[in-house]
Amino acid sequence: MKTRNEALARDASDPLRGLKAQFELPAGVIYLDGNSLGVLPKATAARVQDVIAREWGQDLIKSWNTADWMHLPERVGDKIARLVGAAPGELIVADSTSLNLYKVLAAAIRIAQADAPERKLIVSERSNFPTDLYIAESLCAQHGLTLKLVDSVDEIPSTLNADLAVLMLTEVNYRTGYRHDMAALTAAAQAAGALTIWDLAHSAGAVPVDLNGAKADFAIGCGYKYLNGGPGAPAFVWVHPRHTDRFWQPLSGWMGHAAPFQFTPGYQPAPGVRRYVCGTPSVIASSALECGVDTLLAAEPLGGMAALREKSLALTEAFAALAEQRCGELGVYVVSPREAARRGSQVCLALHAPLEQAGYAVVQALIARGVIGDFRAGDPARLAEVPHILRFGFTPLYIGFAEVWDAVEHLRQVLASGEWQEARFNEKSAVT
Ligand SMILES: *Cc1c(COP(=O)(O)O)cnc(C)c1O
Repeated sequence: MKTRNEALARDASDPLRGLKAQFELPAGVIYLDGNSLGVLPKATAARVQDVIAREWGQDLIKSWNTADWMHLPERVGDKIARLVGAAPGELIVADSTSLNLYKVLAAAIRIAQADAPERKLIVSERSNFPTDLYIAESLCAQHGLTLKLVDSVDEIPSTLNADLAVLMLTEVNYRTGYRHDMAALTAAAQAAGALTIWDLAHSAGAVPVDLNGAKADFAIGCGYKYLNGGPGAPAFVWVHPRHTDRFWQPLSGWMGHAAPFQFTPGYQPAPGVRRYVCGTPSVIASSALECGVDTLLAAEPLGGMAALREKSLALTEAFAALAEQRCGELGVYVVSPREAARRGSQVCLALHAPLEQAGYAVVQALIARGVIGDFRAGDPARLAEVPHILRFGFTPLYIGFAEVWDAVEHLRQVLASGEWQEARFNEKSAVT
């Protein structure tokens, strides 16, 4: 992409351009943070209002049956299933990503300890999202297992051996945007006799996922990122059908019971993935999540996730190339993989010395200009290897090529003018 006019021409011929009308987007904002908090669908406010005023306000407790609140976890789960290569009935909406990871990792550990008690390792990446590692740390301590963290993708194959109980990976890395080869790693881990858990927080709604095709064991994912479910939206969990009725729910609550309204004192898990519901489903939040998921399903007649992926790759490739061409001399370099198959739907930039500490302020200066990305801190002791990251998520549902062009132009101006040095851009907030 050489000119802004070329960007405008690409937008004009984009078959997905109509999907943007589904969203409330504030004027003057280029929102490149849908990987952290998706935007508000236009349908959400009216839907939530209806759930509150009619289903709750007028119909009161009857709505558990008349509005089928009871099966919202399955209904929304079946819709998400269409985005991640799962079949109806295999995926359920519940709780948070962190909690769902706790459930599936506990279940995987239990299966591994029954089948192969000599396997003592859970393997993940040091660069995985911290909550995943914290949850794994806690479960390892409870079960006498060891959490082994690798520092690079190349180290993973050597860990796939007779010591491995569970390989626990996030398909698309939150910091770098690196995308694993889920099918190949799953096959290799299973050939070594281990189970796999995939965190799809940065995959669901961002890249095509084929859980059944990959024959993965367990997966979890997030509702408020690319699924546009709203802040703190419920998350989801999937289990391969071959584990159905064998896997375990460590948080054995009544809503995952086979017959919750018989109020029996003993726990009997519901058949299938419903057991991963613990307590009463969050009705209002799940209704908002459904509106978010519907914005992605609206792409199905236009080619679905494959078409969204094609546009996403074009957007991220254009952004990375422009950032290098137009901001390279100002210190910018691209951290996320340039190889399309290995990249999620985000581009991560970093700054060369002497600007290696400037990332946070540059992001703040961009936000002040209406270009919303975010900042993810690197390792202060090893900034050359783990740099501070300027992170930009690209959501093909509502981002176009002119916005890619404009975002890079703003970045160029922020760096060329030195405006990032202003004190107001250097004050740290709690959320970066
Ligand atoms: C965003 C994200 C989470 C979020 O977990 P919550 O329980 O929703 O706070 C977990 N794991 C990964 C990999 C993420 O990217």
